[in-house]
Amino acid sequence: MNNVQNCNVAIVGGGTSGLALATELTRLGADGVVVLEREGEAGGVPRHCGHYPFGVKELKKVMKGPDYARALVYRAEKSGVDIRRGTTVTALHKDARLSITTAQGAYDLVANRVVLCTGVRESSRAQRFIGGERPQGVITTGALQSMVYLHGQRPFRRPVIVGSELVSFSAIMTCRHLGIRPVAMIEEGPRITVRQFMRPYPAMMGVPLHFGARDLRIVGHRQVEAITYTDAHDKVQTIETDGVIISGRFRPEAALLHDSHLVIDPATGGPSIDQYGRASDPAYFCTGNLLRPVETSSWCWHEAVEAAPRIVHDLAHNRDLTKGTALVVSGDALRFVVPQRLVQSDAPHAMEQMQLRLKRPTVGHLIARSGGKTLWTDFLQSRPERRILAPLAPVLAARDSQTIKMDIIEGH
Ligand SMILES: Cc1cc2nc3c(=O)[nH]c(=O)nc-3n(C[C@H](O)[C@H](O)[C@H](O)COP(=O)(O)OP(=O)(O)OC[C@H]3O[C@@H](n4cnc5c(N)ncnc54)[C@H](O)[C@@H]3O)c2cc1C
Repeated sequence: MNNVQNCNVAIVGGGTSGLALATELTRLGADGVVVLEREGEAGGVPRHCGHYPFGVKELKKVMKGPDYARALVYRAEKSGVDIRRGTTVTALHKDARLSITTAQGAYDLVANRVVLCTGVRESSRAQRFIGGERPQGVITTGALQSMVYLHGQRPFRRPVIVGSELVSFSAIMTCRHLGIRPVAMIEEGPRITVRQFMRPYPAMMGVPLHFGARDLRIVGHRQVEAITYTDAHDKVQTIETDGVIISGRFRPEAALLHDSHLVIDPATGGPSIDQYGRASDPAYFCTGNLLRPVETSSWCWHEAVEAAPRIVHDLAHNRDLTKGTALVVSGDALRFVVPQRLVQSDAPHAMEQMQLRLKRPTVGHLIARSGGKTLWTDFLQSRPERRILAPLAPVLAARDSQTIKMDIIEGH
């Protein structure tokens, strides 16, 4: 039997969300707040992003990622939070018990409430079905950022970037930091994923963009030598390169959930939560990018701060009921909705909005229905990677029904 320790609130993950939440919990009077961070230093993804702009809305400063991460750590420790670095949570159990490993040994931590804040990660080469050989020099943007910013390493000199999300653009910035010159950006879709006003950026940096690429294959024995793809005109194209950066297509970092008793939402890949951010076991709350791919640091910071009073209220009461209504997406245009459940509780500080995403560019009316009744509807024109928010209040009114369906009626 492992050594057993106790705390009031155990936060798994010391990134933006975990640190913002811990600081706010202590500000609201919660004691015994512990942050468990597997890396040797807390700060999460921003610690690896040596570029601007972080902190603008929440800290009222324009900061580089590592400075922002240090500021969040400083604020948390100053408010009395116990940040345990080099501490990996390896399993989640009922009754808010966590299995933990550290260099000094393993122990169990039993809390009154656990909050999961493990963030997102990019899809791997295997998850994107990129074929070919397995040479050195194929990495995600996240891995590139830690090599470049934390260790000053230059894994290649003229890589190709796969993807055109915001993080693909930050891959260009990261490369430039060490004089690495990307030779191309390849996008599988027909157009750039980031907002159109950013489209000129790769060209300004001398990086040509190729759209409609499919059947990507990597060539090379020891180090990457080329990447091939079939273009929109069915021609096979070859780009000589010494590295491939696989960027974006984020997924919640849900490894802990997969081996646990908690329910996962297949649509987000993260936990199924209610309007208080509680997982299917009410001793577990969740916040930050674990909830869904993907939001900015600033969004996650605010989301975590808003979660704090819910948790403080919940600590002062018996764990509330989990019985409730499923909020589900129907039709084929919607990808997910968060939260996924509405419980029959009048506890304060519930989320005010649901978050949705599309599967494809869509114009139409977003509609919430219960039985044959329309609870709420509004016009919508958006794209898959854009944040969509809808009010929760009109659907909370129908939370005694079994299911509330979110759908889109397409067309103007
Ligand atoms: C490669 C990449 C680049 C990004 N670039 C930007 C950007 O430039 N700007 C921006 O605003 N957003 C960016 N993001 C989005 C980023 O997720 C948010 O900025 C922000 O970090 C979200 O905070 P979080 O706390 O939810 O997750 P994170 O900051 O990722 O923190 C999660 C923490 O949990 C820890 N953890 C995970 N599992 C365990 C475990 N089992 N035990 C203990 N600790 C664990 C991790 O080590 C990590 O420190 C990027 C994301 C990625 C993946």
